[in-house]
Amino acid sequence: MEGLKNIMEDDVENQLNQLLPTMSNICSCETCRLDMATYALNRLKPNYVRTNTGALFHKLNTSSTQAKTEILTAVIKAIDIIGAHPHHD
Ligand SMILES: [Zn+2]
Repeated sequence: MEGLKNIMEDDVENQLNQLLPTMSNICSCETCRLDMATYALNRLKPNYVRTNTGALFHKLNTSSTQAKTEILTAVIKAIDIIGAHPHHD
């Protein structure tokens, strides 16, 4: 929907970008990255903002340590699961 965005998508993508390069044994192709993002996002509470005020809300919401820990935990779990069973040959 135009003007609406789930900012968790950016947070999950950022975490994947930081973590995957440190895990050389995990496939980080586009298919796996999308599978991992889907897995993590389906387990996290969505955090929708109006895009014109998104920057401000983003700052408020992700400043808490708990939010960061929840995202990190979900992303690590996603890398674990998808990395062990990639949905491709
Ligand atoms: Zn892959």
